[in-house]
Amino acid sequence: MTRVTRASINLTALRHNLTMAKQAAPDTKHMAVIKANAYGHGMLPVAKALEQADALAVACVDEAVQLREAGINKPLTILEGFIDSQELAICRRYQLTPVVHQLEQISLLEAERAESLAIWLKIDTGMHRLGISPEQASQAWRRLQECRSVDASKIGLMSHLANADDRADGKTEQQYQVFDRVRHQFADSDTAPIASLANSAGILGWKQTHFDWVRPGIMLYGISPLLNHQGADHGLQPVMTLKSCLIAINTHKRGEAIGYGGSWSCPEDMSIGVVAIGYGDGYPRHAAAGTPVLINGQRATLIGRVSMDMMTVDLRGLQNIKLGDEVILWGEGLATEEVAQHAGTIAYDLVCGINPRVAVQY
Ligand SMILES: *Cc1c(COP(=O)(O)O)cnc(C)c1O
Repeated sequence: MTRVTRASINLTALRHNLTMAKQAAPDTKHMAVIKANAYGHGMLPVAKALEQADALAVACVDEAVQLREAGINKPLTILEGFIDSQELAICRRYQLTPVVHQLEQISLLEAERAESLAIWLKIDTGMHRLGISPEQASQAWRRLQECRSVDASKIGLMSHLANADDRADGKTEQQYQVFDRVRHQFADSDTAPIASLANSAGILGWKQTHFDWVRPGIMLYGISPLLNHQGADHGLQPVMTLKSCLIAINTHKRGEAIGYGGSWSCPEDMSIGVVAIGYGDGYPRHAAAGTPVLINGQRATLIGRVSMDMMTVDLRGLQNIKLGDEVILWGEGLATEEVAQHAGTIAYDLVCGINPRVAVQY
């Protein structure tokens, strides 16, 4: 028998979610973020399904090369940019659009004699991860304008939001203000450079951040970027449904401890199911007792510790349960956001964390 644990990926839902992003930010272009194996959903099938995106974005040069070699010829942004002249050469060879976030990268560009490259100049407006400080922005801008290896008409301005998931947090408005000020410094007459600030949270929660290009990531996969929300609240549909099945149904007596460490004991004589999935598949080991699963469409809860290949569930109160029944860990019918909360993490972490052992079906 082949292992039943699998992630089923709904590409129709993925395309629907891109349409929802376009409805939320109708006057901008959309750069679909498919880094980290498209958040665990499979970078190539996702890239091919997102025909309606204006561009794609990945984290690093290696991811972009894979896409080009598979025949994807959309504009491709490298969010971390290039680290040395070798990576810069790859950007040229494959016509990638790197993010420039350090003055050292500008020096690498200045040392070149090649033809014009399109780039994004990243400004640090408050995230304090990547980006040139607003104080150094004009120097960077001027150097890039004069740099022969950069196409001066194809320098976009970019920044990234740190707290946009929280609608009550004032930082997003501050970051917006800083970004807009920098952008206006570079305006000749009345044409400001092409600008991009919004991630999914910006798209759904902060209209002022839309500018010319938005960069939807998590929302394409049907997951809400906003705190205390679920994808369905924004009309999004789940793309990944993680499934396994019941490989054992056992009866245990009151007081018997279940699994490693015996952290959970039966409060009464009861029936316990064993599901063929564990942290070796990417199911979070930190998921607490009480984390929901869906068995044959009925909600049940995780008990005891998650093992590498298996986990145990409380079958009390469930109807007509038998060996081999399908168990949904997250996705259709069970919000990934809810499971993430029980595991003390965010849904991004769950979908990205699926291991290669899990078969993926499209
Ligand atoms: C990952 C990433 C995004 C997408 O963010 P989501 O929250 O998944 O929408 C956008 N921009 C940058 C720079 C990123 O690193």
